Amino acid sequence: MLPLVSITGLNHHGQPILFGCGLLHHESDSAYVWLLQSWLHAMSGNHPVSITTEPDHRIRMAVAQVLPQTSHRFCRWSIFRETHEKLRHPTFHEEFRKCIHETKTVDEFESCWQALVGRYTLADNEWLQSIYNARHQWVPVYMQATFFGELYPTEETSLNMFFDGYVNATTSMQSLVKQYESAVTSWHEMEIKADFETANTTPALKTSSPMEKQAASLYTRRAFLKFQEELVETLANPATKVEDSGTVTTYRVAKFGDGEGGHIVRFNPFEMKAICSCHMFEFSGIICRHALSVFRSKNVLTLPSQYILKRWSRDANISTHSLTVRYNSLRKEALKFVEEGAKSIHIYNVAKDALQVAANKVKNHGLVLNQQTPEGEKEKKIRQLTSELENTNERCEVYRSNLLAVLREMEDQKLKLSVKVQNARLTLKE
Ligand SMILES: [Zn+2]
Repeated sequence: MLPLVSITGLNHHGQPILFGCGLLHHESDSAYVWLLQSWLHAMSGNHPVSITTEPDHRIRMAVAQVLPQTSHRFCRWSIFRETHEKLRHPTFHEEFRKCIHETKTVDEFESCWQALVGRYTLADNEWLQSIYNARHQWVPVYMQATFFGELYPTEETSLNMFFDGYVNATTSMQSLVKQYESAVTSWHEMEIKADFETANTTPALKTSSPMEKQAASLYTRRAFLKFQEELVETLANPATKVEDSGTVTTYRVAKFGDGEGGHIVRFNPFEMKAICSCHMFEFSGIICRHALSVFRSKNVLTLPSQYILKRWSRDANISTHSLTVRYNSLRKEALKFVEEGAKSIHIYNVAKDALQVAANKVKNHGLVLNQQTPEGEKEKKIRQLTSELENTNERCEVYRSNLLAVLREMEDQKLKLSVKVQNARLTLKE
């Protein structure tokens, strides 16, 4: 039996996509090192920000060697599955899950874990001891400020999601290629379907906030639904100012009636930056309800540009910056052209002429670009102006929110005065 190792990622709809895969002759440190090195080469040497793998010491070693700057974590789903197999206790697993998913700080997790192993007298259990020793690589509380691009972190998904239902341990070498192609085609179709749905249908808005409208037009549907969930939750999570240092204001954002709980948001109105202690934005790329609640209280009506990541936007897969992407895109188009052009002698002649015209255009355009001196001057100016525009927009946003706050204050004063006048009138009548 040869192990099939797949390297997958998540696209802008949160669906799995295949970056590469390999059949290993045997599982060893050097085999995994070779696989990751080959993959990195195919990715033009671009290291991923983060990687999730099976909890395996050989993979751990290979990742540390080949991808030293990449944040590496173990798949929680695999750890839960193995814990379930090794410890057959009816109530333990529910408590175990809570301890992993619901603790918000390292201290909270540590005391929860100690209490749990104490209650079930499992302090000497080797498996629990080993996963506890590796806790920095799989317990969410230790990795919440690292980007993993997951919209729903508590959703437990298998790392093999891409090939689930297509390839398993009994698949023969002959049917592997066929099944591989079916999996690739099927996920590709699902991506097209999700792209189509995002582009051609409108999601139902739940608030009158311009920010929700803005997000609906920018995000893919799945990312928007997550954003919408967070936005709606701001109604139940008010922000209370706890400190003001002039440039940064600190808020506590908690559910109604949640005493001293909740999260702390540090808001800088000049940079339109809101950093939350839950680190959801850093982890998933979608801003959390706590930061949104602060925006709401400060009348920030549109989502500041730094909170809209391209990876969750509708045009996330349109990029021509990478040589590999340009090469693959042109090759795909050229193949279609060749297939179409070879259908008959007449079409072949038309195709040949068209190709000659296209070849001349490409050649001449290359010359025009090369003659431009100094190179990139125009792009530099555009970048500079874009950044100035962004800064001006952000300043406008601050002025607008300050103005709205003054207007609201005036409205309040007016209301108070009219109540006083009303009372005075009543008193006079009496
Ligand atoms: Zn938060």
